[in-house]
Amino acid sequence: MKEYEMIIGLEVHVELKTKTKIFCNCATSFGAAPNTHTCPVCMGLPGTLPVLNRKVVEYAVKAGLALNCKIANFSKHDRKNYFYPDLPKAYQISQFDMPLCKQGYLDIETELGSKRIGITRIHIEEDAGKLIHDDVYGTMIDCNRCGVPLIEIVSEPDIRSASEAKAYLQKLRAILLYTGISDCKMNEGAFRCDVNLSVREKGTEKLGTRTEIKNLNSFQFVVKAIEYEYNRHLKAIENGETIIQETRRFDVNSGKTYSMRNKESANDYRYFPDPDLPPIELSDEEIEEIKHTIPELPDERKRKYTNEYELSAYISEKIVSDIDMANYFEQAVKFSKYPQILSNLIIGDISRLNTADIFTCPISANNIGELSNLIGDGIINTSIAKKLIMRMWEEDINPVQVVENEDLKQINDRAFLDSIALEVIKNSERLVSDYRGGKLQAMKALMGQAMGKTSGKANPVIMEELLKSRIKELTE
Ligand SMILES: [Zn+2]
Repeated sequence: MKEYEMIIGLEVHVELKTKTKIFCNCATSFGAAPNTHTCPVCMGLPGTLPVLNRKVVEYAVKAGLALNCKIANFSKHDRKNYFYPDLPKAYQISQFDMPLCKQGYLDIETELGSKRIGITRIHIEEDAGKLIHDDVYGTMIDCNRCGVPLIEIVSEPDIRSASEAKAYLQKLRAILLYTGISDCKMNEGAFRCDVNLSVREKGTEKLGTRTEIKNLNSFQFVVKAIEYEYNRHLKAIENGETIIQETRRFDVNSGKTYSMRNKESANDYRYFPDPDLPPIELSDEEIEEIKHTIPELPDERKRKYTNEYELSAYISEKIVSDIDMANYFEQAVKFSKYPQILSNLIIGDISRLNTADIFTCPISANNIGELSNLIGDGIINTSIAKKLIMRMWEEDINPVQVVENEDLKQINDRAFLDSIALEVIKNSERLVSDYRGGKLQAMKALMGQAMGKTSGKANPVIMEELLKSRIKELTE
């Protein structure tokens, strides 16, 4: 059997949070009535001239610096010609051979350790409008999004799995959110991703034919699209079929990708320098000035978490990769004597309860901090903690009070627990003999009974130790 690997590069489009559009004074805000945020410039009417919004350059440079890029002192705009009804001008102003930022990287944590993903380039461009397909009226256009500023962030083909792609996107989104240049709302299309994927035999250099999946706007869809597309490539290779280089779309309902257009009919963009806009010139001093406005980034927080709180690199990365989760952790850790237990609660139980793409938690920082103390101090055991956290998710109750009122404290009294152990052993001859016969799982059942007899409150470590030693006595 031959072994294969996937080669993935990602292109991410991010809408910048400027008040006005990239080349005119129209508002960028989302959700306005169709075509109310438009003017002759962003409608592409003849005789109009674009004027570059300086803030766009500042924000793009900020992104570049936060992603360890080299910032060009000189870059320019190019026209990308394409004919599609979502862009009235019939060309998009973008950057072709001289992008604003180049040669950056970001680091992700994988299960095998830290991995660096290269960033080829970041360039600025304008967004297109939105087509609305309607059964009655046919296809309509909303030009509010025409000219909303975008940066496109192109990664090197360094990604080798769906989970690495997800980690890269989460880290990228986190960094951009920390810098404040975009709200990265995925459901509003402010952070969307194109996946370039090919498959090759492991250990070989030659890349397979690449396909591109367009416009994915959730981490989950990216993972599903990659898994589907990888298997599609594998099947084609096994059956001796040729993969066609083409653009595909991911269908959310079927979980499959479908062909949109192939290379033969692909657009010939015929880039050329935009004659209406002067080049972008930036002095080293100006770049340095922008650098000073960048706040604490995920990697700096991560260092703080590993040094001050002694969290592992993997857990720290998980927390900082979501600015809301990181802020929540920093609030809660003020109330916690046990940052490690707290971090496990947040990335474990709370993340499981939170089904949204973005971290939200209805439990207040002091309550979750106090829960970590109850666990760390040995006042409650983990099974009671798990039950409590479910209740706290439903209603923001104070765990200290609940433990007090409902008498949920862990039972550490050895004499009492020993009496329970003896009782369980007496009533479960079969399980005891199974266990003595080498069936180690029988201990789980015995523990289940013992814990049940204390309403789940026994200290499980002491309980198991007592059960084992009492059974051992029987054998001797
Ligand atoms: Zn406009």
